[in-house]
Amino acid sequence: MILLDGKYTSNIIKEEIALDVSKLIEKGGKKPHLAAILVGDNGASETYVNAKVRACEIVGFTSTLIRLENNISEEILLNEIKKINSNDDIDGLIVQLPLPDHIDEIKVTDAILPEKDVDGFHPFNIGRMNLELPTFLPATPAGIVELLKRYKVETSGKHCVVVGRSSIVGTPISILMSRNSYPGNSTVTLTHSRTQNLKKISQSADILIVALGKAEFITSEMVKKGACVIDVGITRVKSEKTKSGWKLKGDVDFNNVSKKCSYITPVPGGVGPMTIAMLLKNTLLSAKQKL
Ligand code: NDP
Repeated sequence: MILLDGKYTSNIIKEEIALDVSKLIEKGGKKPHLAAILVGDNGASETYVNAKVRACEIVGFTSTLIRLENNISEEILLNEIKKINSNDDIDGLIVQLPLPDHIDEIKVTDAILPEKDVDGFHPFNIGRMNLELPTFLPATPAGIVELLKRYKVETSGKHCVVVGRSSIVGTPISILMSRNSYPGNSTVTLTHSRTQNLKKISQSADILIVALGKAEFITSEMVKKGACVIDVGITRVKSEKTKSGWKLKGDVDFNNVSKKCSYITPVPGGVGPMTIAMLLKNTLLSAKQKL
């Protein structure tokens, strides 16, 4: 079994990005600048945003974190986005999801200028991805594809089963894996909560990509011997063994599945750090495009 080490791989990507930043500055460019908006005080969102800000520092980007109260109106949030859209110094903007219930996430995503949408969630960029045109790929699916590429996992002609059809992970990764390119050329089955006989389908997967958000949902009986398993899930579960009182679990029963498969991503340290690396890559691309 080979561990698809997202932490290690993302560190290499960050070194590559840092080198590109110094070249950009040598050519007379400026540091890439990422702005992040965090609404409310959701603990998990706070952790993710802080990790993104720290990653910016590591690669030599400028970052701006805008914190807004949980009860701010949609209008105020949209105005913040407008300000950032028209700020020429800022290359990329992300609004950390989920947002409080009274704010329409689609409206917010739609308000971000597509040229600054480094999360790749804007309908314009999703459309370009579907048409295989150059664009900002959504960061998590892009991170999965990059990990498969760097570990030279064979994907052509393989049966790829995706569990979960969210617009930010499951659906876009199903599109990328079915593209006529590498990684891609897989025969893809996209499954969801209404899927019948999921176990039978997952057992036929050469590549199993799981993004549903239920800790250890995928057991070893659901996995084919020798499969490549990508675990996107991150769920906080209570733990008496950690200082914080909780620990992170993936959607896959790692201890048992890892004994059976050929490749597997750990949680934490798999897809999560790759997502951040791809966000940085998109921001660099945006800064380069301006130059
Ligand atoms: P969503 O919560 O938006 O969607 C979950 C999907 O899982 C839905 O499509 C749902 O089906 C499907 N699902 C739920 N139950 C079942 C079931 N029993 N069998 C099959 N499918 C089921 O998911 P996200 O994609 O936003 O997140 C998934 C997980 O990935 C979460 O743990 C999240 O924290 C994590 N995540 C990790 C990231 C990273 O960087 N590592 C980035 C983004 C997310 P239906 O559509 O029918 O409701």
